[in-house]
Amino acid sequence: MYFKELNTHENLQSKKIAIIGGGIVGTTTAWSLASLGYQVVLIDKELNERLDLSQNLSGTKASLGILMGNTFRRSSGRSWRLRQRSMELWPDLIQKLSTKENPLKINRPLIQLARSTKEYEFMLALASKRKDLGVTTIKNFSSKNMSRSWPQSQYGGLISRNDGRIDPTALMKGLIIALQQLRVELIKAKVSCLERKYKKGKYWLIHLENDNHLQTDAVIICSANGSESLIKKLGYNRPIAAVLGQVITLRINDQKSWDKWPAVLSSNGVNLIPDNHNKLLLGATVEPGTAANALELINMMSMDGNSPKWMEEALINSQWKGLRARPQDRPAPLLEKLEEGLILNTAHYKNGFLLAPACAEWVGKNLCENTISSQ
Ligand SMILES: Cc1cc2nc3c(=O)[nH]c(=O)nc-3n(C[C@H](O)[C@H](O)[C@H](O)COP(=O)(O)OP(=O)(O)OC[C@H]3O[C@@H](n4cnc5c(N)ncnc54)[C@H](O)[C@@H]3O)c2cc1C
Repeated sequence: MYFKELNTHENLQSKKIAIIGGGIVGTTTAWSLASLGYQVVLIDKELNERLDLSQNLSGTKASLGILMGNTFRRSSGRSWRLRQRSMELWPDLIQKLSTKENPLKINRPLIQLARSTKEYEFMLALASKRKDLGVTTIKNFSSKNMSRSWPQSQYGGLISRNDGRIDPTALMKGLIIALQQLRVELIKAKVSCLERKYKKGKYWLIHLENDNHLQTDAVIICSANGSESLIKKLGYNRPIAAVLGQVITLRINDQKSWDKWPAVLSSNGVNLIPDNHNKLLLGATVEPGTAANALELINMMSMDGNSPKWMEEALINSQWKGLRARPQDRPAPLLEKLEEGLILNTAHYKNGFLLAPACAEWVGKNLCENTISSQ
């Protein structure tokens, strides 16, 4: 039965909400719900853990932080709506989280280079529909005389003035500080299982691996590849597959500059991100499963034979790999109210950073309505 019964603001403070997963999706959701007035507890098994670049990282720790909302190929449907809403919410969120000690900003613009005349024609048509969003085309552009030339750019491309990139580490730091200010309780533990309970109404018992447990009114699952097993025990089947991504940082061996480079240059499916005066981030590979393939990294660096000479001469400064979570039988993300007090906000695949604010907002709206719904 569907019925709506909006909670009043007064009783939000008395509602305790657990968020399982402290990546970008879980922390943004925690911030959003705590800002609405809920009592929030965030649980993550890796909270405050040191980075170990030899292991597969979580999506958040591996991410490039690209916000690419306006160059999406489709112009309708859920994915498009979530992207557009997130692009509206990001500037305000950044402003709220940015401090003097930890300044945050979206570095813009983003340029996508076409790989063929056909792709450029598609870009022309897309740009004609997206002028208001700051999307236009570039053509007959030569980067040869630039300090550091771009990879192959003879077909032209798309420039998106409002898309760009945020430093993921600084953003996560800002979010954790904001959560502490909002008195969100942070628990470092692995959730082993969830149990529905009834006593004067429904509540949830969250069992932690260290034999502790806690009781909450609702649970929001934001645990990416750890989500499937948690809901399976409650009777829900949402298969999720891991898709590995490798990233490298190159150290460039010249004294030139990033003059005329955008914040993100996307070419041959690879994102190039200037970082400091002589570093370049390159990512990411898309490899189903959890094992990294060295050949994929080599192919990414060569960019199908289009990488410029200065890139070929650069040295690898650092490299890492992380896991994306992809729903196997439906489009990403899994944004769904499974039952009263149980919400899925997970498996954002390649776009967890981009989509985090819109998905957090969706959770806030659906948490206080007595309906079962999916986005
Ligand atoms: C190489 C790479 C580059 C990427 N670049 C971009 C990009 O440029 N832009 C973009 O938008 N997206 C990008 N993505 C995708 C993006 O990083 C992910 O979609 C996003 O990080 C997902 O965030 P999350 O919080 O849902 O999951 P995660 O970051 O995976 O976090 C899930 C958390 O849940 C915790 N957890 C799991 N199970 C349990 C449990 N049982 N109990 C307690 N805690 C648990 C884990 O410890 C983890 O911290 C990239 C991904 C990769 C791998």
